[in-house]
Formats: sequence, structure tokens, C-alpha cells
Amino acid sequence: MNIELLTIDSARTSVLEKETTATALVDAFYARIATEDGAIGAYLTLCKERAYRQAARIDALADKGDALPPLAGVPVAIKDVFTTKDVRTTAGSKILENFIAPYDATVVAKLEEAGAIILGKTNCDEFAMGSSNENSGFHPVRNPRDHSRVPGGSSGGSAAAVAAGTAVASLGSDTGGSIRQPAAFCGVVGLMPTYGRVSRYGLIAFASSLDHPGPFGKTVKDVAIMLQAIAGRDPLDSTTADVPVPNFCGHIGQPVDGMKIGVPLEYFEDGLDAEVRAAVEFGMQELVNAGAEVIPISLPHTAYAIPTYYVIATAEASSNLARFDGVRYGLRSGEAKTLSEMYRRTRDAGFGAEVKRRIMLGTYVLSAGYYDAYYLKAQRVRSLLARDFDQAFTTVDAIITPTTPTVAFKLGEKTDDPLAMYLADIYTVTADLAGIPAISIPCGKSKEGLPIGMQILGKHFDEASILRVAHVAEHALASRLV
Ligand code: GLN
Repeated sequence: MNIELLTIDSARTSVLEKETTATALVDAFYARIATEDGAIGAYLTLCKERAYRQAARIDALADKGDALPPLAGVPVAIKDVFTTKDVRTTAGSKILENFIAPYDATVVAKLEEAGAIILGKTNCDEFAMGSSNENSGFHPVRNPRDHSRVPGGSSGGSAAAVAAGTAVASLGSDTGGSIRQPAAFCGVVGLMPTYGRVSRYGLIAFASSLDHPGPFGKTVKDVAIMLQAIAGRDPLDSTTADVPVPNFCGHIGQPVDGMKIGVPLEYFEDGLDAEVRAAVEFGMQELVNAGAEVIPISLPHTAYAIPTYYVIATAEASSNLARFDGVRYGLRSGEAKTLSEMYRRTRDAGFGAEVKRRIMLGTYVLSAGYYDAYYLKAQRVRSLLARDFDQAFTTVDAIITPTTPTVAFKLGEKTDDPLAMYLADIYTVTADLAGIPAISIPCGKSKEGLPIGMQILGKHFDEASILRVAHVAEHALASRLV
């Protein structure tokens, strides 16, 4: 069995039909992690005891001939921003280096209920702040397709684990692109669900109004199965919506003829790499060939998205990260003589440069005298950006754009220039600000063989339509991706 090629269905079926056992799959994945992950660095912590315990439970079900749940025996990885009971949870930060969470995030509990086996916790930018994984407090992740390049961020470890075949699927979080951008850079599928579709309980907060948990997989069907397992109202997260959860897999395989797909002109202007443009245009043509109608549209406030995002995200981060004070969680500096000195020393030692930069920026935009000029204005522009999408969705069913302006860049290429790094998020932050769902699927390769991602955005709570479009495109483009 080539475990690096396993999908959720094939892994589950192999356990169901007794070609293998869940325990043997876990053995095989840990053996692969041992040989492959040293060069990639996708994992921060392995939770072997927990994984083998769950595998034994699934094997017992299979032995009894009981019905197996939808992710039975499927080895998955979890971005280290989700809490895992009795397993180290770091958020990629030194300040939580030895933090053992006392409870499971809802998404973690739901995946295990659905039969998934959690192999370990994946590396990420510290507190999910970054676009390259180079802001991890531990070590960077390398792109499995080219080790000299970044895997994207902040969920770089989760994307790399799926791309390297060291997990069948994984969970990430997307605040400004952190699922879709690493999916594009690593050549896998990444889905950001609608805000409120998936519980944030147990997701260590970066920017609460923008944080979206979501899955990575090798195929569109795999992310649909993952979404099914984690979606739904959670009494522990009052921002989850009480709306019906459709059967997402039921929409996979349905045709796209008659669907209207918008192409926003603002996403195809200066700064878009020619190879990325060509690959995305090819993908759109395939959808036209499949019967969809492609319509030019305008999202006129797009140019304001990056500054709006970096004002709101840093403001929320400065407030959320105030809780890391050396009293309640993780690291505490032992050298201090007073309480306020202890706070200062703990935060100075525990947070990395990018996190400090954002706390300062966020505190500034919220401070008296600047609040109206920056934070309030950004909130207003956020409404305009959301209205752009509402307007567009009165005429189209889905929107297609590139996921990123370029393919994966080299490690170190942007580390000295935070603004250049922020611009890597130009096509992704808009969906987070509007709270709409979006998916990135591989749509081609550059001359150097690096993956290119195509983004499909949908209406609030209409993940089903973007999965449907993505699945048709995935099949039409399959021959270009080998
Ligand atoms: N790259 C963006 C940032 O640095 C997005 C991060 C994210 O989505 N978590 O904030």
C-alpha cells in the first residue's frame, strides 16, 4: 500500500474491508513521519498514545462487524492552534512551549467521534501570524515540493503534511488566507468554511471575528468529508450559526452547466504572475467547457482589503493575546521582582518579533485618539468589502480568482520585509473579512514544477456550490497536475 496516496475513502475502505487495520495504518504513518518529516518539519508534537488508543477502538469496531463512522481509521494532523486534551498545544509560540491543554477543541473532538486518528500537532506561524511558516517559534516548515521554498502560512505544517503524505488530511485555521494560501503553495486542496459554520471553541484566538477552522485534503471530496464531520452549531461557541448542515458529498459530482461564475477584474491586475494567470484562466476555460457561464464582475473595494485586514486583525490580536501574561498559561519569567516586571519579561521572552509587532500595531489602532481614524474606519471599509460580494452574488453563483499572486517563494526571501509578506495575502483576506466560504484547488504547475492554486468563493453557507464547482474543475484539470 502506498500510504502517501491514500485518500479518506481509500484509507477507510482498506480498514472496512480488512485489507489493513487502523493500528497498522498508524504504524505506517509514524514510520513515514520518521523518514520524511525530518527534512520538512511539519510536525511539532506526535501524540502516539492517543493515536494508538483510537486505532484500537476502531479496530475493535471493525472486528465486531459494526458500522464504521465516516473517518474510521483515517490518520489526520491538527494545526497546533487547536487545543488537545493532555497533549502539548503551543500555537507555534515559545510562550506556550510546555502548555498541556485541559480540554479538546470542538473540531478535534468531532473528528475523533467521526473515527479519525490524530497523529500529531502541526507547525505553524506563531499564533497563526504569517504567510510562510517562518514565524514559527520553533523551526520553519519546508515545502515538500521543493525544500528551498516555503509551504505558505500560517497553516504551513498542516498543508505540508498532506502534500508529503505524512497525514491523509488535516485541520488548519484561516484568518487572512492561512488555509488557502498554503494549500496553493503545496498543491493540495484547502477549504475555509463560512464564518459560523464551524466551531472556534478551543481554537487559540488570533482575531476572533476572522478566525475560521477548516480542512486540508488531497481531493475536493476529502475536504467535503472533513467539513461534514466538523460543521454545525456548537453550544460552546455562540458565534456558530444554527443553520442546517447539508450533505456536502451529495453535491460532489453534480454538473455545473447553467452555473454563473464571476471573474473579478481587480484580481487579475498588476502583480499577478503570468504563469499563475495562465493556469487560472485555463481552469476557468475548463468550467466553461463543462457548461458554466463565466461573467466579468467588479469588486471595487478590493484595493483596501490588505490595510483593512491588518488593522482589524492586529487590533483583535492585541486584545486576545493580553491573556498570555505569565499567570494563567505557559511560560513565566522567574527573574522578575514585581508583578508588572513579570508580565513584561514573560511577554518579551515568550513572543517572537512578528507577534510583538502586531500587538504594538493593534494597541496603537485601538488607542484613544486613533481609534476613529484607524479601527473604526477599517470596520466601515470591511462593510463595503462585504457589500461588494453581496452585490456580486446577486448575479453569480460563485467567483473564481487566483489564490496567490505567485507560486511558493524561497525561504528567507521576504523575512526582512513584513509588508512584502503581507501582500502575499492580497487575494485571500477579502473572503475572511466578508465571512464567506472559499476553497483553493490545484490548477496547474509553473515551469519549475511548483503548484498553482485557483480559488473559488461562494455565498454565505453555500459551501456546497463551491465544492461542486471545485470538483468539476479538479477532474477536468487532473491530467495537468501529474
Ligand atoms: N498571512 C496572514 C497573516 O499573517 C493570514 C494569517 C492567517 O490566516 N492566520 O495575518
